Amino acid sequence: MKDRRFVVYKLQKLAILLRILGFDVLYFQNEDYISVINLTKREYRILLSRVKFLRKLPWIFYLDKDDLNEQLEQIIKELKLKVNKESLFSRCSNCNNLLQKVQEEEVKREIPLSVSGRGYWFKRCLNCGKIFWNGNHMPTLEEKLKKLAILS
Ligand SMILES: [Zn+2]
Repeated sequence: MKDRRFVVYKLQKLAILLRILGFDVLYFQNEDYISVINLTKREYRILLSRVKFLRKLPWIFYLDKDDLNEQLEQIIKELKLKVNKESLFSRCSNCNNLLQKVQEEEVKREIPLSVSGRGYWFKRCLNCGKIFWNGNHMPTLEEKLKKLAILS
């Protein structure tokens, strides 16, 4: 189910990874847990956390491991998630906004020289302005997802 929506509390790397996979993720680091829980309930999201004293609450998905890959594996397995290839890099890892495809020409002045003219795709976040491109990490990520059997 690719339409699962999450709240990630105090686990920035996990929030970024889930957004890269295309999931709708709100991320909080310093907010108090009561308002984070309230927001989770209000928006019918799933709260992913490693905060021990929250673990008994029914709307918390408690992560057993510290390792990012193991966390992803647990989430994917227990929530029976699937990731579409098309949804990879559809969301801004910085702010969760959906990304828009742009022509290289349009972002030419904003990207490093080393990535221009190489046939990469480029996407821009209209909310925070960040620009993304596939570069070299796309094959690595796909490999990892295939290993975890979560790419469909
Ligand atoms: Zn953004």
